[in-house]
Amino acid sequence: MARANKAAPILDPLDAMLTRLKLTGVRDQLDNLLDEAGRANLSARETLALLCQREIERKDHRRIEMALKLAHFPVVKDLASFDYEAQPSVDPRQIRDLAAGRWIANGENLMLLGPPGVGKTHLAIALGREAILAGYSVQFVTATTLVASLAKAHAEKRLDDRLLGLAKPKLLIVDELGYLPLEPDAAHLFFQLVSRRYERGAMLITSNRNISEWGTVFGDAVVATAILDRLLHHSHVITIRGDSYRLRAKRRSGLLQKAPAQETTNEATT
Ligand code: ADP
Ligand code: MG
Repeated sequence: MARANKAAPILDPLDAMLTRLKLTGVRDQLDNLLDEAGRANLSARETLALLCQREIERKDHRRIEMALKLAHFPVVKDLASFDYEAQPSVDPRQIRDLAAGRWIANGENLMLLGPPGVGKTHLAIALGREAILAGYSVQFVTATTLVASLAKAHAEKRLDDRLLGLAKPKLLIVDELGYLPLEPDAAHLFFQLVSRRYERGAMLITSNRNISEWGTVFGDAVVATAILDRLLHHSHVITIRGDSYRLRAKRRSGLLQKAPAQETTNEATT
């Protein structure tokens, strides 16, 4: 069958040059931008600066949108919506400092520990988001999904590829380590991941278990020690105490009794 005779669009030479230079933001908005510059009586130099500024804004916006997609955050959370008054055991200054991302540049680790509902996942996502805004690549995964994917890759003899993939993001967030104890094989696979990233890429780990309980989490004291040795070498540990934020509103309205003053983290509840 004869192909439809589609005429190639006639390109304005300026359009073509902007396309070749990948200045697609300027290309698509050129008339509006030139009008804007005209209305503001900008000089040629100022006009060029305006065009560059808009192109950069658009590229940054796109990069951030793409990086947020690639990070696979389960929900949208940010630091602005974190209520520090509800969580006095979290130091706002420390969180702001971490949000600047130096620890990520240095390949350090951050552990967010505490009982369910105190905002560990919220802070992990919010800090991940800040990292993306600062230009770092981020990947979020739950411990269960991570370990299952490592085990699958191992069974299919492509563990190296999988580890290589997981070593790429500048920040790897592993959420909910310890909700379920790991099989010894899984603990060993996790160890391989931690070794691969050690001093190269930052990890943010959330857990409802104290570090002293990680031997139980990993089901093997030797592997747990080896993992902790690497994770804690250059690390920041934040232990969040207190009541579940989820149950706060209910408790306030009198639907629930006030929780005991010291919640323990021994119970693995979700
Ligand atoms: P965890 O991961 O520690 O179990 P989450 O981060 O999932 O807890 O928090 C449970 C819910 O409560 C989420 O919707 C979260 O956004 C909210 N939340 C927890 N702590 C705070 C807080 N201090 N300020 C605002 N929202 C909070
Ligand atoms: Mg959580």
